[in-house]
Amino acid sequence: MARIETLPVRVGDSLVIGAGHPVVVQTMCNTHTSDVEATVAQTLELAAAGAQLVRITVPGRQDVPHVAEIKRRLREAGCRVPLVADIHFSSETAIAVAPVVEKVRINPGNFHPDHEEARRQFARFLEVCKEHGTAVRVGLNHGSLGRYITDRYGNTPHAMAMAAMEWLEMCIAADFLNVVVSLKASNTVVMVEAYRELAKRMQERGVVFPMHLGVTEAGGGDSGRIKSCVGIASLLQEGIGDTIRVSLTEPPINELPVAQYLAQRSIPVSEGSAGEGSAAAGSVAPDPVPASAGSEDGSRDAGPSDTEMLDAAILWGPKLLKREIDEIPAEAGLSEYLKDEIMQAARRRFYKPEYIACPGCGRTMYNLQETFEEVQRRTAHLKGLVIAVMGCIVNGPGEMADADWGYVGEGGGRVTIYHKSEPVLRHIPDSEAIDRLLELIEADKA
Ligand code: SF4
Repeated sequence: MARIETLPVRVGDSLVIGAGHPVVVQTMCNTHTSDVEATVAQTLELAAAGAQLVRITVPGRQDVPHVAEIKRRLREAGCRVPLVADIHFSSETAIAVAPVVEKVRINPGNFHPDHEEARRQFARFLEVCKEHGTAVRVGLNHGSLGRYITDRYGNTPHAMAMAAMEWLEMCIAADFLNVVVSLKASNTVVMVEAYRELAKRMQERGVVFPMHLGVTEAGGGDSGRIKSCVGIASLLQEGIGDTIRVSLTEPPINELPVAQYLAQRSIPVSEGSAGEGSAAAGSVAPDPVPASAGSEDGSRDAGPSDTEMLDAAILWGPKLLKREIDEIPAEAGLSEYLKDEIMQAARRRFYKPEYIACPGCGRTMYNLQETFEEVQRRTAHLKGLVIAVMGCIVNGPGEMADADWGYVGEGGGRVTIYHKSEPVLRHIPDSEAIDRLLELIEADKA
């Protein structure tokens, strides 16, 4: 299937997203932005490993000078990678940082608590972006659509597409088209349906913005990689998607080989020829997984067994998700473990709890990866539950809409536990938090 034709979006001097350009691979720093040195070092490392865009969180206006200094030092070091400022809950911060970076990601669900004020602030923001040649991502997440949208449409893929269209219409009205759009969800079915509807609506509207794909809060390890592959490959194979991020609850450098492989592996057939032996129908044979993104610091890169796993997820995941098949055939020769993981990622059968875990960013208040691994170890028997592990109290609760239980870091060694969307225990020392979570789950089952 041919790639959907989109507008070109220019980010910085030389990067173009959409309009038939190769899929752009991006990632995000998990350093504190106020730690300029650490953020510069991580960005350099990510750019050297092939990240074409690097996002950094900008929690408030006080961080804008840090962003400017990070950019200055990167350019001084000869690194031209465009920077994306990630904004939540502060339209003023978006406006303040827009002249400093090449692109700003805003989340319409939390741009401003008042919807009319959000629209006014967005118009101001677009003016600043226009003046400075800054690109924009309208980045919606299933978990944080905002009351204005969920009261009208519920918390559905349709709601996500409708919310995106409202903000894209504002961009069109402002004659500002340097915009990428994303509709991420941790549920692969929701994510794929949302993007499909959005693509259709933009085509009907006659203005198609490039789409940034991602399965948000996918977790880590094999499950995070497989879930990302299933969701992202399903859309890329349909010609939807111009830039991708594989979000993992691991060091961000680990995301790059997976995303690079996925981008190469899922190119629609019209852009190349699907050779004999190509495992995924409609795909071209991939180049080898880049070896550069690997690691002396213990981060893992996609070696041969990872490649086999990614190929299986890219081949079988979309077929399951689209309900073309109900099971992975025995002839596929996959292990039971791999079959179970792919079935769960495509949401066809659940063999263990479903985990939602954010990748962490400059807002993360504790050792997220270690905690997530510990939570998984100790809750592995709780099949049927959805358990979230989130890095910050500011954004975490809003982003875990589907979770039955949530473990949310507050900072200062304290944790809040959520049941559905309600905080049920606050300020628990992190040394006790998993025990308390398990007690609550047991009591709830009793
Ligand atoms: S939920 Fe996680 S990724 Fe999102 S802002 Fe908080 S720490 Fe960052």
